[in-house]
Amino acid sequence: MSYDPDNIFARIIRGELPAKKVYEDDDVLAFHDIHPSAPVHVLVLPKQKYVSFDDFAAKAKPEVVANFFKRVQEIAKKLGVHKTGYRLISNHGSDAMQTVPHFHMHLLGQRMMGPLVAGDTYHR
Ligand code: 5GP
Repeated sequence: MSYDPDNIFARIIRGELPAKKVYEDDDVLAFHDIHPSAPVHVLVLPKQKYVSFDDFAAKAKPEVVANFFKRVQEIAKKLGVHKTGYRLISNHGSDAMQTVPHFHMHLLGQRMMGPLVAGDTYHR
């Protein structure tokens, strides 16, 4: 899938749409999810144009990938969930039901997160 420069997160990065930001530097932006699934539900994304985790991990330089995940940990600490625990989720593509085609990590915490995947156990 090619990158859509008018996706919602691209517009937030450009300042065309508002967001409740919790962190921003030259490379990374984090803001509260508009439909939170937990008391802490923050989206962390690189500002560069990557469609999904798969695209990011395949194309970004290793130091960019490492820097991004360092920022994710720092943001979790800043939000105060590093001691009680948090869940990171990234949806890639249609089976994962990704809805916004700009790579982002969901950072969720401040509640018991429940099963890994909603619904029943998958039986092979
Ligand atoms: P995905 O389904 O791609 O993994 O996650 C996209 C997330 O973006 C969803 O949790 C959704 O609630 C959130 N979202 C969609 N539009 C907006 C928006 O305009 N602002 C914010 N802050 N979050 C959004």
